[in-house]
Amino acid sequence: MARYIGPVCRLCRREDMKLFLKGERCYTDKCGYERRSYPPGQHGQARRRKRSDYGEQLREKQKVKRIYGIAERQFRGYYHKAARAKGVTGDKLIQLLERRLDNVVYRMGFASDHAEARQLVRHGHFKVGGHRVDVPSYLVREGDVVEVREKSRKIERISESLAAVERRGVPGWIALDKDNFKATVQTLPTREDVTLPIREQLIIELYSK
Ligand code: SF4
Repeated sequence: MARYIGPVCRLCRREDMKLFLKGERCYTDKCGYERRSYPPGQHGQARRRKRSDYGEQLREKQKVKRIYGIAERQFRGYYHKAARAKGVTGDKLIQLLERRLDNVVYRMGFASDHAEARQLVRHGHFKVGGHRVDVPSYLVREGDVVEVREKSRKIERISESLAAVERRGVPGWIALDKDNFKATVQTLPTREDVTLPIREQLIIELYSK
């Protein structure tokens, strides 16, 4: 699958907010957005023009795709799945994104950002319900126990991330057992659990045209 491998701080500057794509660095004064909080590129500092409705919707979609590190095709697939489900489409969309195993690994504190979580999952370092799962898009269910495989517990990146997890906090729908390198999905995440400023309604409007 196509994956963005360029400079990630550029993405935060484009979306005009911190997307927390670079682990611990995002919490320091080395943060690219803190240093240069204007859009990237030659005209980044030029006066900003008011965006059209379509422009607003497009930026919101790009922002959420970038937060979760998902390509267009898969993201659109989540929209269709959310639209078919019972309930508010926007809430369902966010819930689907939150339930991805790579996101859950990040939220649990086993990785310092989404890209790292994705790589660790791909390399088979986690078990879900006692079985090895190496698919980043795997959707966790209520009650699932996600744990770091025994032989992977000495990986420095994982223990360093766990040591720093307090700074960003573990969401209420997850119960972390740090000492045993495992965490439980207590309930499915709700819209209120996602604190980043996301206007999912704009994304729904964009796709339902
Ligand atoms: Fe974004 Fe983190 Fe880079 Fe800051 S350090 S611009 S939050 S990716």
